[in-house]
Amino acid sequence: MSLVIDADFHGGNILVEAVGPDFAELAIRPDSNGAWFQWFYFRVRGARGRSLRLRILNASASSYPEGWAGYRACVSADGEAWTRADTAYAGGVLEIRHRPPGDELWVAYFTPYDERRHQTLRSRATAAGARADVLGRSVDGRPIDRLTLGTGRRQVWLLGRQHSGETMASWWMEGALGRLLDRADPVARALLSAATVHLVPLVNVDGVARGNLRGNAAGLDLNRQWHEPDPARAPEVAAILAAMDAVGVDLSLDVHGDETLPHVFLDGADVDPLATPSQIEGVARFRSALAAASPAFQTKVGYPPTYAGDEAPGMCTRAVARRFGAVGVTLEMPFKDSVEAPDAVAGWSAGASRRLGGETLAAVAAVLQLDA
Ligand code: ZN
Repeated sequence: MSLVIDADFHGGNILVEAVGPDFAELAIRPDSNGAWFQWFYFRVRGARGRSLRLRILNASASSYPEGWAGYRACVSADGEAWTRADTAYAGGVLEIRHRPPGDELWVAYFTPYDERRHQTLRSRATAAGARADVLGRSVDGRPIDRLTLGTGRRQVWLLGRQHSGETMASWWMEGALGRLLDRADPVARALLSAATVHLVPLVNVDGVARGNLRGNAAGLDLNRQWHEPDPARAPEVAAILAAMDAVGVDLSLDVHGDETLPHVFLDGADVDPLATPSQIEGVARFRSALAAASPAFQTKVGYPPTYAGDEAPGMCTRAVARRFGAVGVTLEMPFKDSVEAPDAVAGWSAGASRRLGGETLAAVAAVLQLDA
C-alpha cells in the first residue's frame, strides 16, 4: 500500500509527484501569485512501521537554498508535539528520513501555528482584559486582528507573520502576550502602565491560510510596502499604518524568522542615515537589554549594518521609524538550530520562540527607559 500524502488544510503546502509504500517524491508549491517558496507543511498517512524517505525535489530552486544546509525538518505524530527528523540536503534534493511511531506523520518547515490556536490566543487575551478589534480586511477578506493592552502614553507595536511561513513569530507572540497578561510580573505591570501595547499577531493572514512562504494573496512581500502601501493590493499594511497614524508609534518591533542564519539577531532602523541620536540610542538599549535577558540572543552575526537596497524604504522597521520618529527593530529567529541555545532534539523550537517572546519584554521596557 502506498502512503497517502496531502496538504489540504490551513497553511498546508506540498505537491506530490510520486509516492510508494515508504517513499515520496515531493515539491514545494510556490506562493500564490508569487515566486517564493520554502515553507512546506503536509500530512502522511499509512506510515506505521515504515522507515520513510520523503524527498523534496525542488529544494535547490527554493527562495533560500542555503537555508537547507544544517537544517532538519520538523515532524509530529499528533500535530501537537514536534521534534526534528534526520534530514540531508544533497544533489539539490532535501531528503527527510523518519520512522513514525504511528500511522500518521505531520511534516513542516517549522512548527505550524494554526488558525484555531490564533483564535484561542485572542479569546484568552480578551478574557484576561485585552481589547480586541479588527483593523481592516486582507485581500481575501480576512480580518486583521489587533489586541491592545495597557493604558500608558507611549505606543508600542508588536507585529508578527508579515512573512507567513515564519511561524516562530506566532510562538514568540504567544510568549510576549503570556507575559503581558501575567499580573504578577513586575516588568509587564510597569510596561502596561507606561505604554499601550498593540499586537498584530497575523499581518499576512492570507499567506498564512494559503501556505505561502512570504507573499500575501496579491503576491506582494508586505514587508516592502510600508512607505506607500497600495490599499487594494496591500490592504493589510494600509490598515495597520492607518491605526498607527491614529495613536502614533514610539517603538515598532517586527518579528521574523531567517531561513539561513542559525542565530537570534536583530536588524535595527539605527542604520538609517536619517536616524536621530535618540532612535539610535533606543535600538542600542533594546540590543543590550535583550542580550542581558536572553541567552539565545547574540549581536555578532546578523545582516550587514547598512541601509542598503532599493527595497529598504518599504521595510516596516525602516518606514515606521521614519514616519513616526520611532525606535524600529526587526527581530529574527532561526529555522535551524540556534548556535547560542542549541537543542539536539527540537532545534530552535516553538518553546524557544515563546520563551524569547517573554524575555523580549525586558528590551521593550529598556527602550521606554522604565528602569531609569
Ligand atoms: Zn521575514
